[in-house]
Amino acid sequence: MLLWPQTQLIAESAPESDKISVGVTADNAPYSFLEGRALSGYSADILREISFNSGLEFEFRAGSWPELYKAFVAGELDAIDAISYRGYLSDKVLFTEPYHIRQTYLMHDSSRPVGPIDSMDDLRDLQVGVVENMFYVPFLKDQGINIVTYDSILALVRALAFGWVDIAIGPRLSLDYHADTAGFHFLNIVGSAPFDQQSLEDLRIGVQKDQPELFEAIQAALKKIPESRKVELLRRWQEFGGAQTGDQPSLQLDEREQRFLQELGPMRVGVVQDYAPFSFRDGGRLQGLSVDIINRLADMTGIQIIPVSGQWADLLGMFREGRIDILANMSMDRERLSFTQFTDPYYIIPNVAFTRNGGVELNSIDDLRGYDVAITADIFYQDELTQRLGNAAKVFTSQEAMFQALEQERVDVVVSSLPSGNYWIRELNIPGVRIAGELTFENQSGEDLRFGVQTTLEPLAEILNKALATISPTELRSIENRWLGAAMDNGSNEPSELTLSTAEKNWLEQRDYTLSYCVDSDWMPLEGIDSSGNHAGLSAEALRLFSERTNIRFRLVRTKTWQESLDAARDRECDLLPLAMKTPERARYLNFTDPYLQVPNIVLGRIEAPFIEGLGDLREKAIGLVKGYAFAELLKYRYPRLQLVEVENETEGLKLVQENELAGYVTTLPTASYHMQSQGLADLKVIGRIPADWSLSVATRSDQDLLLSIMQKVVASLSEQERRNLESYWRDVRIEQSVDYTLLWQVLAIALLGASLLVYWNRKLDRLNRDLAVANDTLARLSVTDNLTQLGNRSFFDREFRKSFQWCQRNETGLAVAMVDADHFKTINDTFGHEAGDHCLIALADVMRRHFRRETDRLSRFGGEEFVIFTSYHHPEEVIERLDRFREAVADSSTIYSGKSIHLTISIGLATGVPAPADTPAEFLRLADQALYAAKQNGRNRLETRTVKD
Ligand code: GH3
Ligand code: MG
Ligand code: MG
Repeated sequence: MLLWPQTQLIAESAPESDKISVGVTADNAPYSFLEGRALSGYSADILREISFNSGLEFEFRAGSWPELYKAFVAGELDAIDAISYRGYLSDKVLFTEPYHIRQTYLMHDSSRPVGPIDSMDDLRDLQVGVVENMFYVPFLKDQGINIVTYDSILALVRALAFGWVDIAIGPRLSLDYHADTAGFHFLNIVGSAPFDQQSLEDLRIGVQKDQPELFEAIQAALKKIPESRKVELLRRWQEFGGAQTGDQPSLQLDEREQRFLQELGPMRVGVVQDYAPFSFRDGGRLQGLSVDIINRLADMTGIQIIPVSGQWADLLGMFREGRIDILANMSMDRERLSFTQFTDPYYIIPNVAFTRNGGVELNSIDDLRGYDVAITADIFYQDELTQRLGNAAKVFTSQEAMFQALEQERVDVVVSSLPSGNYWIRELNIPGVRIAGELTFENQSGEDLRFGVQTTLEPLAEILNKALATISPTELRSIENRWLGAAMDNGSNEPSELTLSTAEKNWLEQRDYTLSYCVDSDWMPLEGIDSSGNHAGLSAEALRLFSERTNIRFRLVRTKTWQESLDAARDRECDLLPLAMKTPERARYLNFTDPYLQVPNIVLGRIEAPFIEGLGDLREKAIGLVKGYAFAELLKYRYPRLQLVEVENETEGLKLVQENELAGYVTTLPTASYHMQSQGLADLKVIGRIPADWSLSVATRSDQDLLLSIMQKVVASLSEQERRNLESYWRDVRIEQSVDYTLLWQVLAIALLGASLLVYWNRKLDRLNRDLAVANDTLARLSVTDNLTQLGNRSFFDREFRKSFQWCQRNETGLAVAMVDADHFKTINDTFGHEAGDHCLIALADVMRRHFRRETDRLSRFGGEEFVIFTSYHHPEEVIERLDRFREAVADSSTIYSGKSIHLTISIGLATGVPAPADTPAEFLRLADQALYAAKQNGRNRLETRTVKD
């Protein structure tokens, strides 16, 4: 245990002589620890309840355990907290009942799961991390367990998060608390330590033997605390670092703030596009933890948000120039304070060093000297690192580029946030990466994610702070779990809270909370349609659960085969498929939630057939698969030389194997055992396993984004217990002994050992799926028109601008980009109303269309009352002339609305030039933006021009 430098007196109010002095450990978070000058933690909460119940006034003395214990024995303290019962002390100490039984638990990293640990033997092959001096350390040593000791729980939890140990042993509350506050959401408790009685530690309050009245008073007050209250307090510390989780107040804004919000136009919010899992683009959609938080804030405050995605350095530049109102994922530093108002952090993420070089160990920044270190441009530690490392610090503008450099060994170390780095290592499949340590700076434990707000938007940061504080810890936790948690595991036995956004609720409302779905009629026990036409099996149970949680009614659309179900989903005859695996082909017309069920994939053969290592062994032999099943598509892709035979259904597949028409039949373990059992097939066996499981998700029709986000939330809310219950549908299928099923399980066990291979393959597949999904998404994106003006919308702009740019670049032709912004539009809204404003925008778009009808002209609404026109040209004068005519036409016309004539002018910023090979579309846009700014400065209703230099 750490030595506390100095015992401190912490009086709850002014110290007085009749207060009871209680010794409380100062360095034992979350039981008791100092937060500033205040004592905090679970034990501290219990002591306060005791004080409240008894009327006793406590004066806490915080210190290290040895100091406090010495003081107590010397009679300098009336009582001492968190003492365990020891018989030999009973002549000196009066022990209360225990207020907490501390249990010793095991924690693992769910991305590198350990198997079940039921005995000491199961620990033998693992690197086990413990805190030194814990009472069970000698016992572990005796048993010959491979232990690594750390000097605090936090250090232990870090070591586990960084992969330095396989499992951590410690008190559950402390492990959970530290994993949570450090942001390691992938660390989970896997069970109690296999120590029997040894693992229990009782926390009591000890009172001096000569103060029996005091003891009685404390004991009685302790007994008055209801068990439910203790559980609630414990949960608060375990899951939410002590935050209140009860009824959350709704957003309370004062009059000034309310007025401010009413008058606030749409806000442009900068969101980094490659900062998974906080914010990133996937299949064209911007998503992630920060995006969820932004949406939640928008919901609460009614602020209309225009997301502007891009790379960090670009966004920061735009924010500085005032082109973005709010910037997400920004961390506070001194320099930024001059132009930014920061909200409180909504998340703090650890920054670590990733390396493939065995020699790198990071304890302080100086340890990185002599290595090439990649960092992100404009990240808050850039200056500090470049100062300390000089040229060896390599600055990158994207996360992906940084990790590619690590993959190609162009750098030795990448410094990045832990979750984001893990994401890219998986995504790029980089082998042999290790974490060399955490990057910490004075008074900063990690990267604080906040919203940066323009200083001119004055009460906005405070409003956002209030809104952030209104998000309940439970909801925050469920958002965190969705993006940072164990794959699909909310880690608890309680289902997590399900909060649908207003948009999602409205969407369901429109559909009367009724959704249609299709299933595979012949895939029991996973799903099927029984003889009376009802949906049966595991997915029926899953829908029942979903329905309970959301009040959605699910209506079955009956089909005969799985292929028919897929067709129905494609033709939008049903909204969803409750149990489907993602494939590139299906991603053309379906979206997929995260998988919520994994089932083993096996190859069945005749009883006399030899076992196979992999499907490659069956090359040139006929292998059966049900038509339309995911693996038909995936295996064709992966093993082009296999001779795949598509069968109608499971029954036919098994029959063909029996009749020796097929050498093997690919299916799932549960469905095969179900059929073999129900049909009494004794001459088949499992001959091999495919190193990729069925990962089953809810598939939703791809033309309804909100449906996906709703089902994703539903799936993510499943508790571990519910997931296990669903799994028991197939795991518990009784297997008769007439066939030697032990073989089946043996094969399965061996195959499970190859789990790493499986994970590897799944990831590859995921990536492939994603690439295809992106391509399909782009192709399928029909919604490129802005509703109000019928000009191109933002995604039209993103796509077409890049295309035009590249075309001009290749053909060395001039590109003109004009940003058009309505002048004093706020005043128009204020004077004539928002609807009148809308009409002006429609009229403006009409004038624009009349002036720009050439084949190469592209018109788009960029957001709000801003538009972008771009086109190629031969002589810049000609573009300038057309734009000026357009500007004059707008100024000369007026819009009649509700009998009133409204006058409008526009300012235009134009950038022209021939894009050079090194130029980017963003540079053109930035120049146009600067020109627009100048046009506003120089009096509005005018055109300013900038030329891109060669
Ligand atoms: P400036 O000349 O400096 O551009 O002045 P401005 O008032 O136009 O200032 P700014 O561009 O900052 O504000 C734009 C306003 O346009 C704010 C918002 O209320 C309004 N606006 C944005 N989108 C719409 C829309 O779709 N309909 C209506 N009616 N108003 C919009
Ligand atoms: Mg304007
Ligand atoms: Mg504007």
